Amino acid sequence: MNSTSQTLKAVERVLSPPAPHWVGDGFRVHNFFPGGYSLGLRRFSPFFLMDYNAKVEFPPSDRQRGVGVHPHRGFETVTLAYHGAVAHHDSAGNSGIIYPGDVQWMTAGSGVLHKEYHEKEFSRKGGVFQMVQLWVNLPARYKMTAPKYQSIRAEQMGKVAVPGGGGYVDVIAGELRGVKGPAFTFTPINVFNFYLKAGDRFAFDLPERDNTCILVLDGEAYIQDRQVMQDHLVIFAHTGTQVQIYATQDATLLALSGEPIDEPIAAYGPFLMNTHEEIIQAYEDLNQGKFGYLEE
Ligand code: MN
Repeated sequence: MNSTSQTLKAVERVLSPPAPHWVGDGFRVHNFFPGGYSLGLRRFSPFFLMDYNAKVEFPPSDRQRGVGVHPHRGFETVTLAYHGAVAHHDSAGNSGIIYPGDVQWMTAGSGVLHKEYHEKEFSRKGGVFQMVQLWVNLPARYKMTAPKYQSIRAEQMGKVAVPGGGGYVDVIAGELRGVKGPAFTFTPINVFNFYLKAGDRFAFDLPERDNTCILVLDGEAYIQDRQVMQDHLVIFAHTGTQVQIYATQDATLLALSGEPIDEPIAAYGPFLMNTHEEIIQAYEDLNQGKFGYLEE
């Protein structure tokens, strides 16, 4: 083990949640990136987008809130539920419902149509809703891979207990202390959910070169020497490897790290490609029905 493995990863900034906007009528999201702070399209590569639906109370409704049929190509949509329930249907024939702690990992690849709604029973009863959606970019060689859908239940996640504490970590993707996450990924990615109790301390290493950030979804914690409040995102510089978390309250955190994809990005609407020509092609293929069919 070399000496740099114990160097504290430097905090670059702590970002407050940008003003929210609605995605359809079901998701009230703070877009931390790429739009919220204009940090560049590749600042968090391979993570292209983070939409954070901070806790919102939805009144009961007979109508399912959400976003109707729309296409994607060239990347993956990863939805993490914390409160409430999300239903998904796509033109590849996959569907599923995720509940708190579950993750829906959809590889759009060559193209799918999908729709994303609050689950019917949750809509009917109403309640607190909280979720995160990530867009995970695919390198050129996998952009046209066949669509794929992974619905991963909370109990399937890799479990790491906080030593001497009351909390635990769900390893969704990648590896933490030798425990692997169940999600298949096309490039090296770590996705961890921390469910900490007040007073819990946890230290771990992430690669120095990875783009790394931690979102505090609930409670409050010190990350390195910075006090981070609920709904704030910590972004790390590319120096050091060790992350130290100290929960001053019961806290839920999402940690992301990934090896950057060193390729050009052409992003337009629901498509994430390498070149402008590939965006044009995506619209042509969509208009010719090559993304399949999905009922509204
Ligand atoms: Mn979508």
